[in-house]
Amino acid sequence: MKFSQMPYKRVEKESAVKAYEEFIKQMKEAKSGEEAYAVHKKKDDFEGDINSDITLAEIRHGIDTTDEFYEKENDYYDEFLPELSSLQDKYNRALYDSPYRDYLVSKIGYVAFKNLELGFKSFDDKIVPLLQEENALTSRYSKLIANAKIQYKGEEYNLSGIFKYTHSKDREVRKESWKSVNDYFNSVTEEIDEIYDKLVKNRTKQAKELGYKNYVELGYYRMQRNNYDKNQVETFRSQVKKAFVPFVGKIEKDIADRLGLDKLTLYDLGMYFKEGNPSLICDDEQVLLAGRKMYEELSPETGEFMDFMTDNELFDIKARKTKEQGGYMTFIPRYKSPFIFGSFTGTFDDVGLITHECGHAFQGYLKRNVEVSEHASLTMETAEIHSMSMEYFTYKWMDLFFGKDEDRYKKTHFEDSCIFVPYGCMVDEFQHIVYEKPEMTPAERKAVWKELEKEYRPCIDQSELDFFENGGYWQRQSHIFSSPFYYIDYVLASVCAMQFKVLMDKDYKDAWKKYLVVCEEAGLKYFTEILEDAGLLSPFKDGTIEKLVEELGKKL
Ligand SMILES: [Zn+2]
Repeated sequence: MKFSQMPYKRVEKESAVKAYEEFIKQMKEAKSGEEAYAVHKKKDDFEGDINSDITLAEIRHGIDTTDEFYEKENDYYDEFLPELSSLQDKYNRALYDSPYRDYLVSKIGYVAFKNLELGFKSFDDKIVPLLQEENALTSRYSKLIANAKIQYKGEEYNLSGIFKYTHSKDREVRKESWKSVNDYFNSVTEEIDEIYDKLVKNRTKQAKELGYKNYVELGYYRMQRNNYDKNQVETFRSQVKKAFVPFVGKIEKDIADRLGLDKLTLYDLGMYFKEGNPSLICDDEQVLLAGRKMYEELSPETGEFMDFMTDNELFDIKARKTKEQGGYMTFIPRYKSPFIFGSFTGTFDDVGLITHECGHAFQGYLKRNVEVSEHASLTMETAEIHSMSMEYFTYKWMDLFFGKDEDRYKKTHFEDSCIFVPYGCMVDEFQHIVYEKPEMTPAERKAVWKELEKEYRPCIDQSELDFFENGGYWQRQSHIFSSPFYYIDYVLASVCAMQFKVLMDKDYKDAWKKYLVVCEEAGLKYFTEILEDAGLLSPFKDGTIEKLVEELGKKL
């Protein structure tokens, strides 16, 4: 079914409530495991159907935010979705409490049942008012950042508008525009401090009401950390400090040499070549055509996937004025179709849409025929392996996008991915400290960040930018506000994707086979079990990062 032909109808509240009440009743009355599982499958089909309509409305609203029909639908779901979660929670409890749980676990999976437990541990009706306040605070932060007014050379820009100056190949332009960003943050930092302070106190209160010592434990449940704890994450971060930080130091020295500088400053980050970063040689249409050729050559599975995506118009990636910002991959269960949303910018980021988001979509495509949706429901650290590894698997075809600049692109991508690893760990460690000591003042939080920068980002000079020099950088990292403890997922996935890079350079076909294992097992097994089956080392195991750095060092 082509995307444009997929019919949409609003999910009516009354009928949804009735349906869930009926499923709950049937689950409780089931006389055998088989009967209970049949009820669950019916519920799963029903949910797939309503999720399809909700997703269609979401995508179409994003494609044109001025479309009145879908704007209304969007407002309707904003209000209805929290009620829907409460219905789902009630159903989940009936499922979990079924006397036939053992049989249900054997059909639906142990990962799904573990996730149910984590869901129960992180929710109770009594924290609803706090959750609503939390939502309002995160929206306040997003709104503030989205409406940033940065004054630069007599013009006003928001953060995405100023990007072309902060990443200009002219160093003076970069420096001056970064100073404008610095001044902007100085002007709003008090408000951001206030928002964050309230968020930390709110989340701490939620944790206490649910009986936890602080928000760290609750945050882990909420992120569905079903397979590792904060001590393991700490082991990972300390390996990064020991082995990865010095490695990135070497990379940054290399970049500084290329740029003709003694050391990199904050405004040099993101610049990889003196003559500017590599640029695309193709327009929107050609990027898609190149993508099709690339996936057809990569493997039979990816070729079939790309035909499916193209034939059914499952991309919306052209930039339009009234389109929502950002890029993502989603899934429409009724048509078993992944969908990719984004806006081409004419820069090398467009290749990310065709590699990273297609990695997510390819995995969704491979698992589109699962018996129940739980078999395809994944946690983020695993999902990001699918996408980040695809960025490396597609290296071979970068000439299609960059022509003679392909090597420069690959270098940029590789170095950028490496520089991200310590940064991501810093974001994570910062949040652990913040939620372990919720009584800290805003100034103390900034001092914590400043100290962490000495450990994780020792080679970057920020002395000309006082806001950043004084430990303010985290205030522009939206995940810290909206999704606590999320960030480490990217880092864990990234070091797994890098292991794939090492493997594919030795034996591409074998690495691809292992990648398919990670795609297939996602949702069915735990993160570390999947890694083991795919022959990857666990990032939590001491020595993994040291070994990885040794291999990556050979590629510099
Ligand atoms: Zn992703």
